[in-house]
Amino acid sequence: MTLHDQYDPDNIFAKMLRGEVPCVKVLDDDVALAFMDIFPQAEGHTLVVPKDVEARNLLEMPAEKLGPYMERVQKVAVAVEKALKPDGLVVTQFNGAPAGQTVYHLHFHIIPRNEGESLRRHAGGDPADTETLKGLADRIAAYI
Ligand code: 5GP
Repeated sequence: MTLHDQYDPDNIFAKMLRGEVPCVKVLDDDVALAFMDIFPQAEGHTLVVPKDVEARNLLEMPAEKLGPYMERVQKVAVAVEKALKPDGLVVTQFNGAPAGQTVYHLHFHIIPRNEGESLRRHAGGDPADTETLKGLADRIAAYI
């Protein structure tokens, strides 16, 4: 997929937003859905997806929706930090396949980082155990 293409309404995150595909939720309000990444690069890896937009990436996000969406990204990042107390946090976002993007609905990654721990593979490997993700999501959601 290139940086510029048609929005695919059947991408996996669009299906989650419509409730057609399950996810382990951390936050669900009128602006955004946040849930645990199924291939976590570190324990607590969370994704924040905007609702009611057909934006494949940050470049396509309507500017007037960016503020409320970024408030949710920050809110989830704060909650991840309070719940898991990592040494650091990566908050990142990829635009286009050459940049590392694999799902074409805008999302931010929130990835806890700890001294001496290397980042696991991006968007691959074995999926995380659902019960483990639910435990982490409950701990994070307690701070939202
Ligand atoms: P991107 O590569 O587009 O920046 O990030 C997509 C993210 O979505 C990856 O970190 C990948 O692990 C995650 N992901 C892909 N499919 C699923 C899924 O079905 N469920 C969940 N929870 N995460 C997914």
